[in-house]
Amino acid sequence: MAKLIVSKFGGTSMGDAECMLRSAEVAYRQGSSMVVVSATSGTTNDLIALGKTAESQSWSEAEKIISKIHARHVKIASDLNLPTDLLQALETLFEEMASLAKGIHLLKDCSVKAMDALMSLGERMSSVLCTEAMAQVLRKHKDAKSAKLVDARDVLRTDDAFGKAKPITKDIEALSNKHLGYLRDFKTVVVTQGYIGRTEEGMTTTLGRGGSDYSAAILAEGVSADVLEIWTDVAGIATTDPRICPKAKPIDEISFKEASELATFGAKVLHPATLLPAIRKNIPVFVGSSFDAEARGTWVRKEVTDYPLIRAMAMRKKQILVTLSTPEMLHAHGFLFQIFKIFNDHKVSIDAITTSEISVSVTLDDSTLLNKRLIADLSEIADVQVEENLTLISLIGNNINHTPGLGKQIFETIADINVRMICLGASKHNFCFLVSEDQSTETIQRLHKKFVEA
Ligand code: ADP
Ligand code: ASP
Ligand code: MG
Repeated sequence: MAKLIVSKFGGTSMGDAECMLRSAEVAYRQGSSMVVVSATSGTTNDLIALGKTAESQSWSEAEKIISKIHARHVKIASDLNLPTDLLQALETLFEEMASLAKGIHLLKDCSVKAMDALMSLGERMSSVLCTEAMAQVLRKHKDAKSAKLVDARDVLRTDDAFGKAKPITKDIEALSNKHLGYLRDFKTVVVTQGYIGRTEEGMTTTLGRGGSDYSAAILAEGVSADVLEIWTDVAGIATTDPRICPKAKPIDEISFKEASELATFGAKVLHPATLLPAIRKNIPVFVGSSFDAEARGTWVRKEVTDYPLIRAMAMRKKQILVTLSTPEMLHAHGFLFQIFKIFNDHKVSIDAITTSEISVSVTLDDSTLLNKRLIADLSEIADVQVEENLTLISLIGNNINHTPGLGKQIFETIADINVRMICLGASKHNFCFLVSEDQSTETIQRLHKKFVEA
């Protein structure tokens, strides 16, 4: 029986007409039924700049960004010789971009809601172009299937947490059945957008930066896909970011648990939430390069054949360490509860935590500092100290918390680097610690040499 495959292509895979045609060719050869696309490379950043510029600068400055985005898409449209109906759809999106920017400019207010509407245009524009690329590839292969553009927002229902909206799985399943039930006939290749969704009230949302991977996984879950493919600019998940260590090796196979830790702790190749839907429905995930589709790539599965002690490493930059101290914690209970309640009220998630008798240290993304109310609330119950410019380094593998001597090997390798905090024990797949940002690359390079290259 044919397999239902959902394939996601990232921004660089949508870079220009050639990239789009190459990606469509990959989707064709894989037998994909659903192609989920990111905005063309750089466009989401440009749209954010447009929102901010329209809010705070002159209209002519905003117009410059509009022209840049417009030109990029018009060039691809002309290279692909876009048919009239798709050209019209693209024009409508250009008009929407200009109207939204004008509204933001007149009000001098770019709310998160407005920003989501503006950012959604990146994926909506690229999907129009990619629909034509897909149609051309199907024609070239004399394939009777048709390429169909679908608005992901009709299916991807979210809450109203603009900028980082949460998909509502139950609704998405029902909406997938309603709008995408025909996929199992295998007569259509749907092209749709990653990253964007819609609230029940009809407002456009986004899932947070890099969210197209997550969208593809959510949609794969919604249509009960057999395989989810993430096509990017590297040939799979590597032992660490190849930009940090050129000797990073592609991983053939990795378990859901390890890959989830890797994504959560900073490996940009997968959005942190991507594997949650895949785990829920046990959908195997393939990660490969749209530029080199023949390369082996990585399979992420529930069960794999080997479980090495150290499989990979990652880093998460821009971390802060917040230390809360109060003598009242001595022999008292309920303090952790109070702290977590405050973080919960502010919807801030903590990555690593250590405690002593009278203090608790937690690591957070540095953007948390923008939330002055959070720091003020914490200050009401404890003395608060914040250290900035830190990086969380993680070693990912198996049986990490039951292996004698591992800590010694790690810290011998970086004996001259100050380790600000260590977290070990909670997960058998992860050993993480904090170092200063300017020593983070060196730390990863040395550990990679010791545990992977050796
Ligand atoms: P896309 O636009 O396709 O979503 P991203 O830029 O978000 O692509 O993710 C791919 C990038 O992730 C790679 O170019 C690479 O630099 C980075 N990366 C970080 N860690 C890893 C890793 N362990 N393996 C592979 N790539 C990684
Ligand atoms: N276009 C969005 C971003 O740049 C989503 C994605 O590419 O995954 O963050
Ligand atoms: Mg990405």
